[in-house]
Amino acid sequence: MRPLQMVDTKNQYQKIKKEVDEAVIAVLNSSQFIGGKVVNNFAEHLANYNGSKHVIPCANGTDALQIAMMALGIKAGDEVITPSFTYIATVEVAALLGITPVFVEVDPKTFCIDPEVIEKAITPKTKAIVPVHLYGQAANMEAIMAIASKYNLYVIEDNAQAIGSDFFFSDGTQKKTGSIGHIGCTSFYPSKNLGAFGDGGAMFTDDDELAITLRMIASHGQSSRRYYHDVVGCNSRLDAVQAAILDIKLGHLDEYIQARRKAADFYDKSFSGNKHIEIPFRAENNTHVFHQYTLILHDVNRDQLNLFLAEKGIPSMIYYPVPAHKQKMFEQFGSDKIELPITDWLTQRVISLPMHTELDEEQQQFIVNHVLEFINQSSI
Ligand SMILES: *Cc1c(COP(=O)(O)O)cnc(C)c1O
Repeated sequence: MRPLQMVDTKNQYQKIKKEVDEAVIAVLNSSQFIGGKVVNNFAEHLANYNGSKHVIPCANGTDALQIAMMALGIKAGDEVITPSFTYIATVEVAALLGITPVFVEVDPKTFCIDPEVIEKAITPKTKAIVPVHLYGQAANMEAIMAIASKYNLYVIEDNAQAIGSDFFFSDGTQKKTGSIGHIGCTSFYPSKNLGAFGDGGAMFTDDDELAITLRMIASHGQSSRRYYHDVVGCNSRLDAVQAAILDIKLGHLDEYIQARRKAADFYDKSFSGNKHIEIPFRAENNTHVFHQYTLILHDVNRDQLNLFLAEKGIPSMIYYPVPAHKQKMFEQFGSDKIELPITDWLTQRVISLPMHTELDEEQQQFIVNHVLEFINQSSI
C-alpha cells in the first residue's frame, strides 16, 4: 500500500507531469514572469468555468479577502458578520483593516454560517456578510443573498475550500460558489482543490466597476495610467509559472472533484449507521466538493483516536481546534466574551481523514478498518 497522507499532491503531479513541465518551461523561456498572456488566459478560463464575468488573480486567498473588503469600502469601525468556525484568514484580514468581525454560529450539519442568526447580528455598522463554504460545502447562499438585499449589505464569499461547487436556487437556477455574492474569493494554496505549486489566489465578480477597483487595489492602487496611484492599495500578484500550472489543473478540476466525491462515498458507506460517527451532511442545495472529509465523533476520545491512527501511519487532522472567537488575536474586540456553543461543540468533536484525488480503495479500507477498530474497542 502506498503511504497515507492528508493530501497527495506528489502523485497527482505525476499524472500531469508532462503537460505541467512543458507549460512551466514555456514560461521560463518566455521570461514573462509577472502578468502577461499566461496569467490573463488562466483568468479568462477560470471566469468561464465559474460563470463569473471577471476574475482578478492575486497572490493568495488571504489577500483576495482583504482586497475584497478594501474594494467595497469597508473600513475601520465597520462590522462584518462571519462564522467563527473557519480558518483564521477569513477574519484576520477584517481585523487588520480595523473592521470588527462579528462572529455568529454555524449550522451544525453543514458547518457553514447559519442564516437564521445573521439578522440578529446586524447593526447600523454592518457592511457585509462573509460566508465560508467550509470543507467544500456551500453555505445557504439563497438565504444569505436574501438577507443581504433586505438590509443592503455586501456578500463576500470565502470560496477557498469549495471551488467548483454548484449551488441550486429554489427557482431552478444554478451557479458556482464564488459567483453568487458581490465578490467571491479563492485560494490556490497547494492543498486546495485547485492548488498551485506555490501560493496564489483570485477574486470573482460580475460587477465591472468593482473589477476595476479590485484590480487597482491589487496593483498599488494604480489607475489605468502607469505611476498614477488613485487609491491606497497593496501588491498582490499571481505569477505566470503558477498561472500556467493552474490553467492545466483547471482542465482537470471536475475530474478531481469526482475523485474526491468518490472517496467520500466510500467513507460514507463504511461509516454510516455507526452511532459514534456522524458522516458529513450533504445539503440538497449544493454539490459538496469535499475539500475535507470531516466526521463528528460522538462519545469518542478524539485525541486518542488521532494518536492510534498516527501509530498505524494514518494522518488525521482537527480543522480547527480553536474557533476564531477564542483566538487571542481577537481579545481586543471582546470576542472571547461571546458565546457560540455550537461552534465550541463542533471544535471539540470534528476530525478530518485523508482526502484527496489519489486515494485508492486499499488505502481507504485500511483507514476505515482502523477507525472502526479504535471505536469498537474503546467506546461505550
Ligand atoms: C486557505 C484558506 C484561506 C486563505 O488562503 P491562502 O491562499 O492560504 O492565503 C482563506 N479561507 C479559507 C477558508 C481557507 O481554507
